[in-house]
Amino acid sequence: MQHFPIFLNLDGRRVVLSGGGEVALAKLRLLLKTTARITVFAAAPAPEIEDWAARGLLTLHRRAMLPGDALCAALVYAADEEAALDAQTARIGRAEGALVNIVDNLADSAFITPAIVDRDPVTVAIGTEGAAPVLARRIKADLEARLPATLGSLARIGKGFRKMAENLPFGRARRAFWADYYFNAGPRAMDQGGESAAGSALDDLLARHLSGDPARGRVDFVGAGPGDPELLTLKARKALDAADVVIHDRLVGPGVLELARREAQMIDAGKHGFGQAMGQDDINALIVAHARAGAHVVRLKGGDPTVFGRLDEEIEAVTAHQLPHAIIPGITAAAAASASLGRSLTKRGRNSQVRFLTGHDTKGFADHDWRALAVPGAVAAIYMGKRAARFIQGRLLMHGGAADTPVTVVENASCPGQRTLETTLGRMEPDMKQAALNGPALTFIGLAPHRAQAALPDTPQAQETF
Ligand code: SAH
Repeated sequence: MQHFPIFLNLDGRRVVLSGGGEVALAKLRLLLKTTARITVFAAAPAPEIEDWAARGLLTLHRRAMLPGDALCAALVYAADEEAALDAQTARIGRAEGALVNIVDNLADSAFITPAIVDRDPVTVAIGTEGAAPVLARRIKADLEARLPATLGSLARIGKGFRKMAENLPFGRARRAFWADYYFNAGPRAMDQGGESAAGSALDDLLARHLSGDPARGRVDFVGAGPGDPELLTLKARKALDAADVVIHDRLVGPGVLELARREAQMIDAGKHGFGQAMGQDDINALIVAHARAGAHVVRLKGGDPTVFGRLDEEIEAVTAHQLPHAIIPGITAAAAASASLGRSLTKRGRNSQVRFLTGHDTKGFADHDWRALAVPGAVAAIYMGKRAARFIQGRLLMHGGAADTPVTVVENASCPGQRTLETTLGRMEPDMKQAALNGPALTFIGLAPHRAQAALPDTPQAQETF
């Protein structure tokens, strides 16, 4: 290790930078995160630098650096991107006792600025001694995605609570409390109620840990998206990463399930069309039983959990036992299907509203406001609409729907077997029957594929069209 990483206290210290262009700006953006006193020397400063100077964030001298300008400076940055000028800056800096960095010149620099992940007061510095900046950037991007944006606030709130936490015995008990706060209770409270909730969560958590009964399960209702694992949200991935038990629907495909923590118990609560493999009451009981036993339960639902997912019944069951829960949204099938058509769900001048309908409900085929749906330009996304195709077609035609209204069915949206059926209201039932759809399918009334999209049957992304 040639470069030894340290965190330098710059509070109130002088930092001097010479340069006024892009490179100088990039360094200044970083330095402005600190509480250092910054001085910039630039004959032609970028407007941002002028602006920072006007706002009192730094001191600006519109000239080149001279001997004496780096006195008492902790750090000096040579950022003019001109070898002679940078060498001059470095000479002055060194002579006056500062650590010097020449941007993009590792050999002549006394220190390097790492790639930084900023969750102040938590700061991650990544360095590769100049060997692989691409690697550093990738690691930074990975960490940025993995560390919640609220981590810094949690750490700040946690710091103020350290005295209180000393009521717990030193060692394992105290560590368990903090782990519970930073990885469970804290982020959840922050998501639901911001900093004040994260603060009060600490009191509750401490009381629970002091009572000697910290184990308390929780339930995340997580949207698994339409099938493509890349359409999962970062939050969904994190929940899967941390789950003890995953209870999933039939709709959730193997690509998504693979992302669950290796040790997690996987339970398939798949339901089949009208005949259910596992009753809703059984599913509710299963969720509650695992959470009450202290598990972090991820209830994984296809698409978005709030769309035709019987979510409310499960929430009722969970709240009846005072178990904490959170809802993590997902990309619903209609969004994935419309994306595959290259179409937006709403369009100025065509439809200012879009309806999400179910083809069947508890009583059988579902009834809707057919008259409104039959109006020219109306757009509806019909979930679970395969068996109800004939019924829907009949009702729409009866209420004045034009036989040439476009109807598009997307089967397995975002999944490898994705297929698109383009038809019309007049022909939808026989066409759908003939297509023998056997995957989940979303039916759009009033939406046809974008022409350019439909005309590209041979491109790798294009779906099989029939
Ligand atoms: N919560 C889910 C919907 C559950 S209802 C969501 O937000 O997407 C189940 C219905 O959703 C299926 O019958 C089908 O109509 C639709 N669906 C789910 N995934 C789909 C997919 N990948 N492609 C097309 N339709 C899908």
